Amino acid sequence: MRQSSYFLYTLREYPNDAEIISHKLMLKSGMINKVSSGIYTYLPIGNRVIQKIESIIREEMNAAGAHELTMPVVQPSDLWKRSGRWDHYGKELLRIKDRKSNDYVLGPTHEEIITDIADRFLKSYKRLPQTLYQIQTKFRDEIRPRFGLMRAREFIMKDAYSFDMDENGMLKSYLLMRDAYIRIFNRIGFRYRIVKADSGTIGGNMSEEFMVLSETGEDKIILCGSCDYAANVDAAQSGFITEDESEKPIEIVNTPNCKTIVSVCEFLKTDPAESVKTIMVEADGEPIMLLVAGSDTVNEIKLKHILGTDNIESAGESTLLKLLLPAGFMGPVNAPKIRIIADDKINRMKNMVCGANQKDKHFLNVNYERDFSVDEFADIRNVKTGDLCPKCGGRLAETRGIEVGHIFQLGDKYSKNMNAAFLDKNGKRQHFLMGCYGIGVGRIAAAAIEQSHDNYGIIWQSSIAPFNAGLLSLGKSEDVANLADKIYDILEEAGIELLYNDKDERAGVKLADSDLIGLPVVVIVGERGIKNHYVEVKTRKTGEKKQFKLDRMDLLTKWIKEFKQ
Ligand code: ATP
Ligand code: MG
Repeated sequence: MRQSSYFLYTLREYPNDAEIISHKLMLKSGMINKVSSGIYTYLPIGNRVIQKIESIIREEMNAAGAHELTMPVVQPSDLWKRSGRWDHYGKELLRIKDRKSNDYVLGPTHEEIITDIADRFLKSYKRLPQTLYQIQTKFRDEIRPRFGLMRAREFIMKDAYSFDMDENGMLKSYLLMRDAYIRIFNRIGFRYRIVKADSGTIGGNMSEEFMVLSETGEDKIILCGSCDYAANVDAAQSGFITEDESEKPIEIVNTPNCKTIVSVCEFLKTDPAESVKTIMVEADGEPIMLLVAGSDTVNEIKLKHILGTDNIESAGESTLLKLLLPAGFMGPVNAPKIRIIADDKINRMKNMVCGANQKDKHFLNVNYERDFSVDEFADIRNVKTGDLCPKCGGRLAETRGIEVGHIFQLGDKYSKNMNAAFLDKNGKRQHFLMGCYGIGVGRIAAAAIEQSHDNYGIIWQSSIAPFNAGLLSLGKSEDVANLADKIYDILEEAGIELLYNDKDERAGVKLADSDLIGLPVVVIVGERGIKNHYVEVKTRKTGEKKQFKLDRMDLLTKWIKEFKQ
């Protein structure tokens, strides 16, 4: 590709409105253009990266036996009513009306359409198993679109769906997709971990996320330092030690103005881990008391699952007043008659400190059963660095990741709701057991830049680079231009995708642009080389240089073809 006639416009400065490096570099290197909040045009060079990523995904999906189809972006509401998600999906679902006032949605995901397809076509067990996929535009009206393609409203997703007749088959299909994902992310060159995930609104039993390790990741993940345990913080568990102290007599003490765990523990010279934090929430209007260890915090997602609602708010002042609960001094001992949910760690703690439900007072040596009761123990805490691994007892650590893929075993959640079934060997109707498998295509491009860049720009892995190599002609002389033209023809002829900067620009500008765009290697034609009969090749990642004699362009071609980073 000759840059003089290509559509590629890089920026001299970083744009002001981008926060993370991948977003900045995508804008600066002319990959994308913002049309509206969370809505982008993929400009030609960005589009090439997207297509490279799509090809890798397509190859591996096909190799795993999945079949590509394309479903509509605009979906009629009746399918969504059948699955029940018309009422439950919330505001991310963009609803639209046609001229006859019929309701439609812009597809945020395609379980409804594909389940209907399965019901129509996969009528017998003989047609199972089956896995179908598409690579297509999704729309989610994200509450906070940001970071460019990382969290967009309109974005490209690969979504696959498997249909099986029994649990074993579903697991097999799931593992096939899991393996395909491993191959995809290895080919892209990611440093990533597969983590246990929360299943969210899509639902189902078992799900895992593919997390690219990055400080800018929006997800908090928990990894064990000693074994392979890895989980999203919303699904992470931790072990704990049962204290075997004997129970001491309960005592009430003055704690003037000590309204936070930190101030109480400082004042009483106790460890937050030995105290109880009491939190009041209202779920669908019902006041609920939550108890966690003073060193822990409540995980909202876990709580939502336990309470079976998204509508949870911290309790207002008027509710506390009505229940005679003094903020900062609340506790479960002599609590009003409301539902109490305690983190299961509380069950194992002894001689705790907690609020006394009187202003400026706390209890010491509080013990479960003897001094208070609860309605339910459950895992409601956020796992944090230093907690014990639930698998091996080792130490857990928090880190951050970018979720590029998510795989689920859905079971019969959708097939049951939508009554999608096949006839089994005995001629009996059975609901399909399904799996669903997503990959964010644009987010992969962003994550790749987050993991691989330097002060000068992007450093593309060979597998997803927009071109295999760059070619620069440096200097004004006609000899340089002629030689560069000749090399361009030779390399293109050999099947190398080349971005040839043949523009009338200063050497400094061309070199800076080349670093910004970040192709794995660049061939440099300059005056000095011509004099000494060579061209130079520079690798983007290491800056290493190599020279090739002008009469051995075959060696140059071979070297570029074999170069991988
Ligand atoms: P997140 O927790 O990041 O919102 P999700 O759990 O909603 O993701 P899925 O429904 O599992 O995502 O979608 C499959 C994949 O699509 C995700 O793993 C991610 O790579 C990508 N994806 C999801 N939402 C977006 C978005 N707003 N912008 C870009 N890619 C996205
Ligand atoms: Mg989401």
